[in-house]
Amino acid sequence: MTLEDVVGRIRRAERKSGREPGSVSLCAVSKVQPEDRVRAVLEAGHRFFGENRVQEAQQRWSLFRPTFPDVTLHLIGPLQSNKVKAALDLFDGIESIDRESLAEKLSTELARRDGAAPTLFIQINTGDEPQKAGVSPAEADRFIDRCREHWRLPISGLMAIPPAEEAPAPHFALLAGLAERHGLDRISMGMSGDFETAIEFGSTEVRVGSAVFGERVVAT
Ligand SMILES: *Cc1c(COP(=O)(O)O)cnc(C)c1O
Repeated sequence: MTLEDVVGRIRRAERKSGREPGSVSLCAVSKVQPEDRVRAVLEAGHRFFGENRVQEAQQRWSLFRPTFPDVTLHLIGPLQSNKVKAALDLFDGIESIDRESLAEKLSTELARRDGAAPTLFIQINTGDEPQKAGVSPAEADRFIDRCREHWRLPISGLMAIPPAEEAPAPHFALLAGLAERHGLDRISMGMSGDFETAIEFGSTEVRVGSAVFGERVVAT
């Protein structure tokens, strides 16, 4: 599996689902991957990457960004409140807004900075899994409204990671329905094992790691 294969499969899945060609973006998840694999994907021209840890991302991208300044970087893992400033300095998008205290911190910090806010997604825990980050579906309507109205966050979309041991389709349907109900255009769902299904259900960005770079050497 390579970048080219994954992009080809995304384009085919778009056609098959009657989606606009090119309407689905590929967020290449570079967490834990060795430098040479990431460099190869950059040299192939890819520019949209995802990372799940702030510190690890700082290290990796301080190395690559001087050479590839047009990279778009999204945080797709949990964000601790004490790392909000660092995250805003580094990332073009934050996909893991999952609690009031984080929404408040982001809101305060963004008000302090002028300039464009990053692309913001709320993470929904579609399977209500206790060990997983994200807002419970039962709380989602209220949380989305509060982020937008009370904290004045320019929310672009929703993100979810379905339970590993369940069929992903109902979770993708839930997320897409929630996004539609709130008039949110961007839906971040689909990983190496299920991105074609996610596209069928309306994903606008798939987060694909191992299918692009190869298996991760260290588990995360
Ligand atoms: C690691 C990770 C991915 C990519 O997983 P693969 O199965 O390697 O494609 C996607 N989304 C999140 C939030 C991740 O942490």
